[in-house]
Amino acid sequence: MKIAVLKELAEGERRVAATPETVKKFTALGADMAVETGAGETASYSDDAYREAGATVGARGDVLKGADAVLGVQGPDPDSLSGLENGAWLIAGLNPFGERARIDRYAELGAEALAMEFMPRITRAQSMDILSSQSNLSGYKAVLDAAAEYGRAFPMMMTAAGTVSAAKCFVMGVGVAGLQAIATARRLGAQVSATDVRAATKEQIKSLGAKPIFVEEGGIEGEGTGGYATEMSDEYKKAQAELVSGHIAKQDIVITTALIPGKPAPRLISDAQIATMRPGSVIVDLAVEQGGNVEGSVPGEIVEKHGVKIVGHRNVPSRLAADTSALFARNLYNFLSAFWDEDAKKPVFPDDDEIVQGVRVTKDGKVVSERLLG
Ligand code: NAD
Repeated sequence: MKIAVLKELAEGERRVAATPETVKKFTALGADMAVETGAGETASYSDDAYREAGATVGARGDVLKGADAVLGVQGPDPDSLSGLENGAWLIAGLNPFGERARIDRYAELGAEALAMEFMPRITRAQSMDILSSQSNLSGYKAVLDAAAEYGRAFPMMMTAAGTVSAAKCFVMGVGVAGLQAIATARRLGAQVSATDVRAATKEQIKSLGAKPIFVEEGGIEGEGTGGYATEMSDEYKKAQAELVSGHIAKQDIVITTALIPGKPAPRLISDAQIATMRPGSVIVDLAVEQGGNVEGSVPGEIVEKHGVKIVGHRNVPSRLAADTSALFARNLYNFLSAFWDEDAKKPVFPDDDEIVQGVRVTKDGKVVSERLLG
């Protein structure tokens, strides 16, 4: 089996879908690895390192020719896939809701597209979960980005010249990114509080030494299917806005991470609330590319409103490309190796497997994902 690893062509994408480490592992399984020239350069993995790990390195056309599987971080532009074999697996973070037209094109090209962000949130699939591995490092980086923009220190410092007080940091949305943001802000010495719509996160927040800030509404529970949040009622949103208004005025740093799968990100902070914050405060909106949790946040920009900086970096995982690539690449290896057939020396994907049903979005020229069709 030949596995092609493409150089990412999307603007600002620095990650790569295989590292020398995973190339070596795939080779040990019996795969022939072909890596596009320069694929790992922006993530600090050289062509020579891939060659030493057992891959051939060459132009895109040569890499794609005869490939049974094509690995990417983002879904490749269909126009850049000439020479793709009919029935080849296309395995990447395909952004199926955001790039629906592309998914149709993959079907037309005869590719079997596997969208890694549709990986079910089940224990067996944890090691294959790109959303978790990338969000974790995004949560960490969001706090560092906030610290870099903040003109004050995070920890309390008692010096001969006087005391510097600890920064107050509020994390909104306590999924994978939010939990890591809490842990990182705590490590830097901030006083941390956090909120979510899922009641289960309350204990998680406490266990990290942060203070939970919750709307206490008759047993309200914002957990939908698969452990994800659901869209909340208007009453809940009103109660949440009031609670946040009181709290946010006292915060120095706010990190927002709230997402609802397949829907625009919920709006959590209004311009009027920003106006109550102390000048010099910093908000990092990790949901900026999904519509934004913060009024006025702009993808790819740091804007200033009422003296408060609103950070809206695009593609935060790409800002830590060496580590995020290493984890992404392991997620792909864990996925393919879990289905590896020793005799065929390639994976076999059973139609009735929960993971296969989750990630498979096209097959035999058609879109087959229930999440896209239903
Ligand atoms: P996500 O990125 O979809 O959303 C981030 C957080 O925002 C979530 O915690 C969500 O509840 C919260 N949120 C949504 N709307 C909100 C609002 N209006 N106000 C405040 N917060 C809001 O979430 P995620 O990080 O992908 O995690 C989703 C769930 O999946 C979690 O329960 C997580 O523990 C679970 N998970 C399970 C596995 C596994 O078992 N394999 C792996 C990873 C995550």
